[in-house]
Amino acid sequence: MPDIIQLLPDSVANQIAAGEVVQRPASAVKELVENAIDAGADTIRVIVKDAGKTLIQVVDNGKGMSAMDARMCFERHATSKIKKSEDLFHILTKGFRGEALASIAAIAQVELKTRQSQDELGTQVEIEGSKFKSSEPISCPAGTSFSIKNLFFNVPARRYFLKSDGIELKHIMDEVQRVALTHPDIEFSLHHNGAELFSFVKTNLRQRIVHVLGARYNEKLVPVSEETDIVGVSGFIGKPDASRKTRGEQFFFVNNRFIKNAYLHHAVMSAYEQILPDGHFPLYLIYLDIDPDLIDINIHPTKTEIKFQDERAIYAILHAAIKRALGKNNITPSLDFSQDPSIAITTPLTHQEIKVPEIKVNPDYNPFGESSKRESLAQRWGGERAGNSKGWAELLEISKMVSPQEEHVATLSGTSDLFELEEGIQPIQLHRKYIFFAEENGLILVDQQRAHRRVLFERYLLLMERGKGSVQQLLFPEEIELSPADIHLIKEMEGDIQSLGFEISWPSATSLEIRGVPTEANISDVGGWIESFLELFKNEAHSSTVGLREKTAWAMASGTSIRYGQMLTTPEMQELLERLSQCKQPQVIPSGKPVYLRISLNELAQQFK
Ligand code: ADP
Ligand code: MG
Repeated sequence: MPDIIQLLPDSVANQIAAGEVVQRPASAVKELVENAIDAGADTIRVIVKDAGKTLIQVVDNGKGMSAMDARMCFERHATSKIKKSEDLFHILTKGFRGEALASIAAIAQVELKTRQSQDELGTQVEIEGSKFKSSEPISCPAGTSFSIKNLFFNVPARRYFLKSDGIELKHIMDEVQRVALTHPDIEFSLHHNGAELFSFVKTNLRQRIVHVLGARYNEKLVPVSEETDIVGVSGFIGKPDASRKTRGEQFFFVNNRFIKNAYLHHAVMSAYEQILPDGHFPLYLIYLDIDPDLIDINIHPTKTEIKFQDERAIYAILHAAIKRALGKNNITPSLDFSQDPSIAITTPLTHQEIKVPEIKVNPDYNPFGESSKRESLAQRWGGERAGNSKGWAELLEISKMVSPQEEHVATLSGTSDLFELEEGIQPIQLHRKYIFFAEENGLILVDQQRAHRRVLFERYLLLMERGKGSVQQLLFPEEIELSPADIHLIKEMEGDIQSLGFEISWPSATSLEIRGVPTEANISDVGGWIESFLELFKNEAHSSTVGLREKTAWAMASGTSIRYGQMLTTPEMQELLERLSQCKQPQVIPSGKPVYLRISLNELAQQFK
C-alpha cells in the first residue's frame, strides 16, 4: 500500500481554522476591532454593508504595519503579540493566536491599507481566498484599514446559513458594543449601508455604559467595587427596576475581555434572590481584574470562554460584592415586587372596570365578516363560520404565515373544535383567569389573557396591512432615550407601528419622540410602554421564525391585553368572547398554545364513573 497521508495545503488549513474563528460577519468585526485596539488606536470606525455580508471595513489610527508585516500578518500563526509559550500565561493583548487574519483571508476578498506614522508611504495588500493578489506602496493615512469583501464567497454553505440582515447586524452591534464597554477611552462608530448607527465619544466608564445602554439607565446603575488578593471586582449592577424578563443586559469582562460564564452568572443571580420578581434578570456589567497567571483564555478560538484557577473563590467574592453593593444602596429583599414593575399599561377594558361598563360595538370592527352588527353568537358560529369552508381555507393560509406549530394545530383541529355560545347563557369568570360557559355538548374554558391577545393580534395585523390606525395626539409629546440597538430595532418596524397609529419622530440619534399613540391601544405611560414593548419584542424575537410584522403585532397585543388577575364583568366577557368568535383563528396564540379548552359531556361522564 502506498503512503496516503499528506499535509493539507495552507489555504485548506486556513479555511478549516476559519470555520472556528469566523462564524459570521460579527466574528470578523470582533477580530478586526480587537486588532485595532491592540495596535493602540484611539479612534475605530466600523463600516458595514448588507450586515457585513458584502463589506466589513475597520479603520483605525493605531500604529500601522511595515510593508513586510502587511504581508506577514496573513500567515497562519503570524503574530507580534507572543514569542514563546510562557507568554501564553501573561496575555495582556486581545489577540495572540495569530490566526484571525489568516482565517479571514481564506474565506473573503481582503484589502489592507496601512501606514506607520514615521513612514511617508504606506502599503496596500490584496489577498483573496488565501491567494496574494498584489502588494504595493500607496499614500494613505497613518493607521490601518482592513476591508473584508464578500465574506464566505468561496464557502457557499456558510453563506447560506447566515441569518437575515437584521439578525446579523444585531450580532455586529453586540460585538462592537461589548468592546466599547471595556474601552471608554477609545472612540467607536458603526455605519451600516451609509447610515451611522452609533458613535461613542471618549469618556469615562459610567458615561460609556449610559451611551451604549441608553440614557434612561443613568439613575438605575449601582456601583460595585471590591478589591481582594485574588481578584478585583468593579463595575455596575442595575437597580431592581432595571431588571428584565429577557437576558441580554448581563456582561462579564475579565481583564477587559467580554466572556460568558454561567457559573459566575449564578453568583450574581443568587445575590439578587428575593429582590427580583420571578423570571427577571438583573442588569449587570461586572469587570473582573485578575492576574493573567490565574486564568487560561486559550481554551476557545473566539476567546469568549476562559478557565479560572480558583473559580469557587471568585464565585464567593463576586456574590459578596454584589450583596454589599445592593445593601449599601438599601436594596433589600423587603421590597414588594408583587406588581410587575416593567409593565404599567392601561387598556380599554381596565377603564371599563372602573366605570359602569358600556359596551359599544364598533361597526368597523369585524374586518372579516360582511356584517359586523350584533347578531346572536350562536348564529355567527353556527351559520357564518362553522359552515364556511372559505373561512377555513383562509385560516390555513394565516396559520402558515403565523407559525409552523400553529399550522399543525389548525390542521389537526376540525371545525368541531370551534365553540358555540348559545343565546342567553351567561359566562362566568373563574379565579380572574378563565372564562367558563356551557355549550350544548359540554363546557368551554377560555384563557382570558390569551383570548384578548389573540383578538388584538389579529386586529393589529389588519391595521398594519391597511395602514390606517387612528392616532390619538399626545398633549405633551414624550421623548425617550434609547440604546442604539433599540433605536435600530424600532426604526426597522417603524412603518408597521406607524400604521397602527403611532406618530414618531427622531429628535436625535439616541432618542425617539412619541407624538401620538393608537387610539385603540389606550396607552397612558408611553415611556414605560415602549420599554416593555421592546422587551416583549425581544422575548419573541428568538422564539420562532415568524416575520417582523407578526412579532410586532404580537408584542403590541401582549403589551396591551387584559391580564390574569383582572376582574371582568359579564358584558366584558361577552364582548371578549364575541370578538374572539370573529377571529380568523381563535383556537391558539401564535406559539401554538391553546386559547380555550373544551370538555365534552362524554368526558365528564367518564370522570364520574
Ligand atoms: P493576533 O491578533 O492573534 O496576533 P491576527 O491574525 O489577528 O493575530 O493579527 C496578526 C498580526 O497582524 C498581529 O499580531 C499584528 O501584529 C498585526 N495586525 C493586525 N491588525 C493590525 C492593526 N489594525 N494594526 C496594526 N497591526 C495589526
Ligand atoms: Mg487578532
